[in-house]
Amino acid sequence: MADTEDHPEVRLVTHCRRCHGWLVSAASVAEGIGPTCAMRERAEQRAAARAELTLFDIAA
Ligand SMILES: [Zn+2]
Repeated sequence: MADTEDHPEVRLVTHCRRCHGWLVSAASVAEGIGPTCAMRERAEQRAAARAELTLFDIAA
């Protein structure tokens, strides 16, 4: 069969985009980030949103 060239390489493991550690669970691979890093990222986004609100309060 010559159609292997038509298939993109299917990666079952990849690196976390945040800590570059190996991701091995399908869900983490799909998200491109590990569960711990996803949790930290969400916490940071919340903190950033809070900071923006605070700045808005000061400006207003
Ligand atoms: Zn990570």
